[in-house]
Formats: sequence, C-alpha cells, structure tokens
Amino acid sequence: MVSEELFEQMKKWRQQMHAHPEAAFEEVETAKLVVTELEKMGYEVVTGVGKTGVVASLKNGNGKKVVGLRADMDSLKMDETTGLPYASKVENRFHGCGHDGHTATLLGAAQVIAERKNFDGTVRLIFQPAEEPGYGARAMIEDGVMEKYPMDEIYALHNNPQMPLGQIGTCPGGIATSEDNFVIKIKGKGGHASAPHNVKDPLVIASEIILALQTIVSRNFSPLETAVVSCTEFITDGARNAIPSNVLIKGDARAYKPESQQLIEDRMRKICMGICALNDAECEFEYTHEFAPTFNDAVCTTYAVESAKKVVGEKNAFDDLPPGTGSEDFGLFLQHIPGCYLRIGGMVCETEDDAIPVHNSSFDFNDDILPIGAKFFTQLIEDRMELK
Ligand SMILES: [Zn+2]
Ligand SMILES: [Zn+2]
Repeated sequence: MVSEELFEQMKKWRQQMHAHPEAAFEEVETAKLVVTELEKMGYEVVTGVGKTGVVASLKNGNGKKVVGLRADMDSLKMDETTGLPYASKVENRFHGCGHDGHTATLLGAAQVIAERKNFDGTVRLIFQPAEEPGYGARAMIEDGVMEKYPMDEIYALHNNPQMPLGQIGTCPGGIATSEDNFVIKIKGKGGHASAPHNVKDPLVIASEIILALQTIVSRNFSPLETAVVSCTEFITDGARNAIPSNVLIKGDARAYKPESQQLIEDRMRKICMGICALNDAECEFEYTHEFAPTFNDAVCTTYAVESAKKVVGEKNAFDDLPPGTGSEDFGLFLQHIPGCYLRIGGMVCETEDDAIPVHNSSFDFNDDILPIGAKFFTQLIEDRMELK
C-alpha cells in the first residue's frame, strides 16, 4: 500500500518539518508544505481555517458519507538536544511531541487514498494548529469548520514512544482528560502578626478551602469516576511579620466527561464562596476550560480497531488501552462529532523505562511509524466508505 518511494518522501517531509518547527498559530510554512503537497494529489484545499489550519477534501463515487482524519502541526516552545542532522534550526522551537510525524503520516495517507480511490464518499483532512496549548480545535470550530466542512466521523492518531512499534491501541469512552484551570482570590483583612484578633486572616481561610476542595473527588464523585482537583499555587501579599490581606490559590482540574467538569466547577464555587462567607471574607472564583475531555465513541472505536487489526495484525491492535490523564485538543472535535483517538506505538528500545518520552528535549519521532499510520488511515477510509 505504501511504496518504498512514498516512505522516503514521508521521511523527507517529516524531517523538513522537524528542522523548521513552528509553534501554536505560527504554522505558516508547515501549512504551505501541506497545501502544496495536497494540491498535487488532487485535493480541494482551504487554508486559514482557525488562523493557520488547513482543511482538504477529496470526493469519490456517489456516497454521501464524510469521514474526517486529523493531524496536528504545531511544535513545542522549547529547545532540542538530540544533535540529529535534521534537528531544529529555530531557537526555542522543537517538535518534541511528534506532530511533525503526525502531519507527515496524514500526508502519506492522503497520497495513498488519492491514488487508490477505493472509497465511496468524501475524505476530509484536518490539519489543525495549536494542539499543545489547546486552542487550535476551538479556533477551527469558531471559524465554522463543522458547518462549512461537515463530517460524520473523525479519527486521529498520536505516537507513543513507550508502546511497542507496530501496535495501535485505544479505548472506548474517556482516553484523555479535560484540563480546567481555576483561580481563587480571597480578600480578608491584613494586620500585625502579633494581633490576629484584629484581622481576617486569608491564609487560614485559604487553608480551609484547600482541604475542603479535596472532598470533591472523595465525597462528590462516584468511586468509579475519574477526577483530579489539584491546587498548585498559593500566593500571599504578606511579610513575615504581617498577616496578609490577600491570598491567591491557583490550580488545575481534570476529568473524562463534561458532566464531571461541571460537577467540579459547581462544587468548587460553593465551597469557596461558602467558606469565605463563613469567615466574613470576600471571594472571587474563576474557572476556565482549557482542554475538552477526549471521549471516544464506542462504535467508532470498534470500527477503528477493526481497521487497525487488518494493518498490524489481530494481536497488535486493541481497544483496552489504559486511558491517560494528559489532555488532547482533539477532544473538542469529539464534542461535535463521534470519532476515535488512537495511540500508535513507536518504541525502539527493549523496555518502557528506557524509552524517551514525548516533551523530552531528546525525543525524536520514530519514522518507522509513518507507513503504519498511513496504511491504517487508508484502511479506515476504505472500510468506513466501502466502494461497492
Ligand atoms: Zn504534546
Ligand atoms: Zn502531541
């Protein structure tokens, strides 16, 4: 399915992107490369969807179904230490998550799909910007991607250097968590450390709040549901001999379902407001959604794993991958259309412990994933829109 010549071409694309990484919403040259190649292959291409995003479509036969495939194009904002011949030439930019590989994989798949024309319907390719900070999917959706370029289903792959090369795994339901951030501002009344009866000590109030927040996961959630509430910063305006007037608590909350996010937010707000009211202090509570949870549709997961089995073999494709507590911007697409997010193994060493994880300054995407990923996407398209 993937010729030796195409494999070489995919490596070239990947390494070119690796040497010239572009972070969130900077993906101008990457998008240009993507557009040039897709146009050569015969795709109808639209640029500037969600700032630097690209949408490409190819129709074959009379089928009405539209299946979407997504790749992410952005790099991290950090320096690379691999010393590879194609290492990043740009300071503080590095493809440390393998999005160069995801883009090259989808380009390779695009070429095979276009050459074989063995499907009945429309293939929609989504090259999204800004996956890392989690704003790219939102930017594309706000730009009308769902209305202008509708899809019935959508799929995405992410490399996993700790999973053996040649494996593809996923799970139905939650596979990556949401990420929400919160800021709690407590205003008491500061004063001399020697006279606590003259102040409203926001430190003590904040401490009560931090402990009470720990009851959300332990007392408000079912033991079978996953949720995380972590306070990560505690900032005061005090001096060693002064009780402060203000305390700021910042933190991060995660869950697999939108209803869980809502429960966390509602309980947090009540706890913060309640404890501050009890102590006669003022409270401001801000809760923002950074990443949607990535929740795989059960039926689409079955389809994806069936197609993966045809490519990597019965034993190497599975639907019982343990979910992670990281976040993935693809989740936002899944709130609009059913689909499935899968992980593709790229491990080259013997054990998981020896593998260099993504976001490590010496990580490099394993090019041997490229043909496997391209074959999987092609198989999935041909299975989901079978040409009769
Ligand atoms: Zn990443
Ligand atoms: Zn990533």
